[in-house]
Amino acid sequence: MFLTINGLAKAFGDLEVLKDIDLEIEKGKVLSIMGPSGSGKTTLLRCLNALELPDNGVFSFEDGLTLNFDKKISKQDALRLRRKSGMVFQSYNLFPHKTALENVTEGPIIVQKRNKTEVRELAESLLEKVGLKDKINLYPHQLSGGQQQRVGIARALAIEPELMLFDEPTSALDPELIGEVLTVIKDLARENWTMVIVTHEVQFAEQVSDKVLFMDNGYIVEQGPPEEVLKDPKEKRTQQFLQRIL
Ligand code: ADP
Repeated sequence: MFLTINGLAKAFGDLEVLKDIDLEIEKGKVLSIMGPSGSGKTTLLRCLNALELPDNGVFSFEDGLTLNFDKKISKQDALRLRRKSGMVFQSYNLFPHKTALENVTEGPIIVQKRNKTEVRELAESLLEKVGLKDKINLYPHQLSGGQQQRVGIARALAIEPELMLFDEPTSALDPELIGEVLTVIKDLARENWTMVIVTHEVQFAEQVSDKVLFMDNGYIVEQGPPEEVLKDPKEKRTQQFLQRIL
């Protein structure tokens, strides 16, 4: 198991957004998270990346790193958690005044202090991998939404994370641009990246996921293989949600 989470809880003031979440993330597998808006999906993803710190819960990584949020964790441990994953955001979050290439090289060079020439080569190959070989010197505003999101994916890959996190990666895109982004994510799944994907794309989730988790109101309502959770859900709330969006 890449990561085992026990008893994850997170509140914003009085609002309990995640309630006693137990979760296993398997190495080389794809976990998709679905559920209604406001159910806590993004917050869960942000907790995996230390963009939010849980109030309670224990994260146990396969490599021995254990973080117990029932106590205050050190800045260093938060940083260790952050460095394990690369995040792809709904709204791309690219630096507007940097080229596609510079957006990809920024993290490895500035944060990880890696060798500039090597990082540049890596960035070029990642941009090629996501189909943007001829766009590397363009700025975000010169790219379509789908192209910007593919830069976002290359940027997350460039830090060579152990875990890739996707927060509704296609929800800001026009329908005709969704496919090109989903294709890149499917390619990563085939390469056995460990991934957690928040998505509303049912068909995509069915194709790409090893496990689907359905959340509602801060709880995991149901989880299992996609053919069970998406095709033959046991829980009423899952059934109702799928009926609404299909
Ligand atoms: P989802 O991704 O399923 O739509 P979120 O995790 O974004 O759900 O949000 C869950 C709930 O937490 C929502 O009610 C949202 O308004 C609230 N929330 C999220 N982030 C914050 C924050 N930083 N401060 C206060 N409330 C927040």
